[in-house]
Amino acid sequence: KIVLGIETSCDDTSAAIVTSDRQILSEVVKSQQEMHEPMGGIVPTLASLGHSRHLPNVICETLDRANVSIADIDAIAVTRGPGLPPCLPVGLNAAKTLAAVNKKPLIGVHHMEAHALTARLTTPTSFPFMTLLISGGHTLLLTANGLGDYDQLGTTLDTAVGEAIDKVARALKLDWEGQSSPGPALERVASRGDPTRFQLPMPMLQRKKSVIAFSFSGLKTSVERLIQDQVKIEQDINDIAAAFQLTCIRHIEQKLRLALHQEMIMNKKPLTALVVSGGVASNKMFRSKLEQVAGSYDIPLVCPPPQLCTDNGVMIAWAGLERLEAGLLDEYTITTLPKWPIESLKEKNPL
Ligand code: ATP
Ligand code: FE
Repeated sequence: KIVLGIETSCDDTSAAIVTSDRQILSEVVKSQQEMHEPMGGIVPTLASLGHSRHLPNVICETLDRANVSIADIDAIAVTRGPGLPPCLPVGLNAAKTLAAVNKKPLIGVHHMEAHALTARLTTPTSFPFMTLLISGGHTLLLTANGLGDYDQLGTTLDTAVGEAIDKVARALKLDWEGQSSPGPALERVASRGDPTRFQLPMPMLQRKKSVIAFSFSGLKTSVERLIQDQVKIEQDINDIAAAFQLTCIRHIEQKLRLALHQEMIMNKKPLTALVVSGGVASNKMFRSKLEQVAGSYDIPLVCPPPQLCTDNGVMIAWAGLERLEAGLLDEYTITTLPKWPIESLKEKNPL
């Protein structure tokens, strides 16, 4: 089976063609980074215009590179939500029209389910597994019991870890060096810093120590204050970045251990792996700590390669393939769901 995946939930326009024997036949990403970087953040209406402009060519190029025609495709998968309200319809309408005209099945994909399932494209991993999704818009801890069957164990009470990373990277005025987010730049300067020079407050230490939830806004504010007071030379930037990165990692580690203990020891759930995805999962320091945490529960860490951790069409195509094979198809009448809790996938008609 061959599936075309289309992703327009945020600022990158992407499409990909993936086969059920795990081959990525093609992938095209049209980044809008140059457009949004000078604005200091993504402007949803501009992002939507960018998708309208580029999506037709992105889809044509994806088909050309894979050397397949639309007739050869078994289904069209597209991000239905969650995502930016003006951006989602660009991809969904294109996918619906392509599917209807060519009489192909349509699959509306949950963006976060796609992030979680990409791990199964590169490393066969059976359910149930623990999933940590750390991205620009989410910090989610889930148990994946099966396709479309997720239990949410914890989420962020305020901002997502990736958003905090982006804000701190901006406050440090880091050079993005052509990347689509400032995350890699933060990782680079942090690797040259001393994480012990500055003491940062660990989020949710006292009252909420045993609650499975995340919080990054207090930490972000402390770091922004530190930047205003302390940055004089380059080493100050490196040391602040290192302290911030380490605090984020330790906070996630602490909550992840609580969740693993609850599920594996108390609830005796036979989790097979710790799957970590989303843009922040491409960070090497995060990966090595998470590997250690998984190891202490005797399960492997499964992480997609960095280019599949951030938003991409491949993950949408792969999630579409899994759903196609399970017979989970959608009507041509579906509409976008900008806010779409992942647990509601369990319901038959998530509207
Ligand atoms: P969501 O999936 O929640 O809608 P998104 O699509 O914006 O959000 P992704 O593309 O999955 O998120 O990830 C982007 C985020 O990952 C950004 O916040 C970025 O700073 C962060 N990121 C990317 N690379 C790294 C890295 N090497 N270290 C730390 N953070 C990183
Ligand atoms: Fe994403």
